[in-house]
Amino acid sequence: MSAPRRRVGVLALQGDFREHLAALRACEVEGIPVRLAADLEPVDALILPGGESTTMARLMDPVLKTAIQQRSAAGMPVLGTCAGMILMARDVQGGRADQEPLQLMDIKIRRNAYGRQIDSFETEVESRAIGGSGPAVFIRAPQLIERSSHIDVLAVHGGLAVALQQGNRLALAFHPELTPDRRWHQYFLSLDGEAR
Ligand code: GLN
Repeated sequence: MSAPRRRVGVLALQGDFREHLAALRACEVEGIPVRLAADLEPVDALILPGGESTTMARLMDPVLKTAIQQRSAAGMPVLGTCAGMILMARDVQGGRADQEPLQLMDIKIRRNAYGRQIDSFETEVESRAIGGSGPAVFIRAPQLIERSSHIDVLAVHGGLAVALQQGNRLALAFHPELTPDRRWHQYFLSLDGEAR
């Protein structure tokens, strides 16, 4: 495990970035809203929040997008929750034509895959990453369709992989930021970062 991370950026274009900033505060870590590439400079890790991936992709400055891709390639840890998971995917089904994902993980995702009847629910998900079982809020969540052999599955729900890790990139189909349980954030903060 690396030293505790001091500054963690949260993409703050749309969605529930405030909840992630509050979760970081609860973990005694400074959270920094990220809107432009310059905001990324001082951060040691980045969170892509839940919300609407189409809107976030549309609002994202191309310079910021490239900066995120470069920092991630250099080893900056990235956590994506729900819409954030969609942004991290290599390929998105059901996205908009102009919704180019960041392609940080070798996963293929289907948006809004749970259907209307069960599109939002709260359940318990078990994972070694959090040392047991914890609450998981799913809201119009994506589903994994394909993954490469580099991807570790950290949690499964209803036969589907809902927590995925590739190196220090972590994608969750649910919203740990919407519960008071901080173990997923703690797990993310424990991942090794860049040598800077
Ligand atoms: N359905 C949303 C999307 O496609 C994700 C929902 C969420 O983040 N809760 O971006």
